[in-house]
Amino acid sequence: MKIAVLKELASGEQRVSASPETVKKFTGLGATMAVEKGAGQSAAIADADYEAVGASVGTRAAVLKDADIVLGVQGPEPKSLKGIKRGAWLVASLNPFGERERVDEYAGLGIDALAMEFMPRITRAQSMDILSSQSNLSGYKAVIEAASHYGRAFPMMMTAAGTVSAAKCFVMGVGVAGLQAIATARRLGAQVSATDVRAATKEQIMSLGAKPIFVEDVAGIEGEGTGGYATEMSEEYQKAQAELVSKHIAKQDIVITTALIPGRRAPRLISDAQIATMRTGSVIVDLAAEQGGNVEGAVAGEVVEKHGVKIYGANNMPSTMAADSSALFARNLYNFLSAYWDEETKRPVLPDDDEVTLGIRLTKDGKVVNERLLAN
Ligand code: NAD
Repeated sequence: MKIAVLKELASGEQRVSASPETVKKFTGLGATMAVEKGAGQSAAIADADYEAVGASVGTRAAVLKDADIVLGVQGPEPKSLKGIKRGAWLVASLNPFGERERVDEYAGLGIDALAMEFMPRITRAQSMDILSSQSNLSGYKAVIEAASHYGRAFPMMMTAAGTVSAAKCFVMGVGVAGLQAIATARRLGAQVSATDVRAATKEQIMSLGAKPIFVEDVAGIEGEGTGGYATEMSEEYQKAQAELVSKHIAKQDIVITTALIPGRRAPRLISDAQIATMRTGSVIVDLAAEQGGNVEGAVAGEVVEKHGVKIYGANNMPSTMAADSSALFARNLYNFLSAYWDEETKRPVLPDDDEVTLGIRLTKDGKVVNERLLAN
């Protein structure tokens, strides 16, 4: 049973899919670990660190040869998998909707492509959920970025020279990233408010000491679809929400947007006209910039200035904290594979009718088999 760990080739990707900790644990389960040379370098893990826990380090061709399981952070280009054996598993964040053609190519290679971001949101899969582990760090970093682009302080300060008032920070979308953004902004001393379409978040916002900003009295605002995900909202709701946001946003210094709907373009939450009402020097961080953006004019990977407001479009935020994000990502992959480990054959076995298998398996025996992907 050989597990290969790839070096990430995607531009700007600094994470790695295995850490010395998880390599050691996989070895303990009876697997042979092969790590591509330099795989951990940008996440502060040296080749020698992997060797010290029993992995071999070699070229891509050498690690792929005879590998039963291939681990990655982002889905590798199919042509970079030359030499992978048929029936091998590819376990990574495969961006199945965004890279649909690639999924067909994985099927063509005869491998089982397992998309970790399709992990069902069920209790037993919580420790395997890369979206949660990575979003948590993104929420934290969004506030740090906002603070560094803001030409003022976050906390209220009473000094001999006078008082500096606290920054007003508004978080839109209170999932894993949003909750961490609220907590981080509070720790920095901002006055925090937040909104979401899921009514259940109201209590969570208050429990973190922030003020909930919610559209009330509009039909169909529950906003909760299957698996804890948001659904697309009714037109009436969207209109009411836009009005509420317009009023609130004009008084904010910092806005962090995190709203995503899986498989679809991110919902537009802030228009150019709304940005124009904010005071000069305010900062918006759009964590959904890569999925089309919650904020009009946001560009992933750039800071653009509109009406005197800086708009930071996040681009792979977890990669900017590669040491921590890799450690958590690696644990998610280990928690997944070890949960299905068969003691006798010393390899993981995924039952065809298992909820996790059905959720994450994209390809099998040369075909695309994932329901969610086929339905889209
Ligand atoms: P997400 O990344 O899918 O979306 C971020 C947030 O944006 C969500 O709270 C969503 O409701 C909100 N949103 C979407 N459209 C919006 C709009 N138009 N306006 C305002 N807000 C909007 O969400 P997430 O962070 O992955 O988490 C969603 C929920 O799922 C949370 O309750 C989380 O605890 C739960 N969860 C459970 C598991 C598990 O049980 N294994 C794993 C992950 C998340």
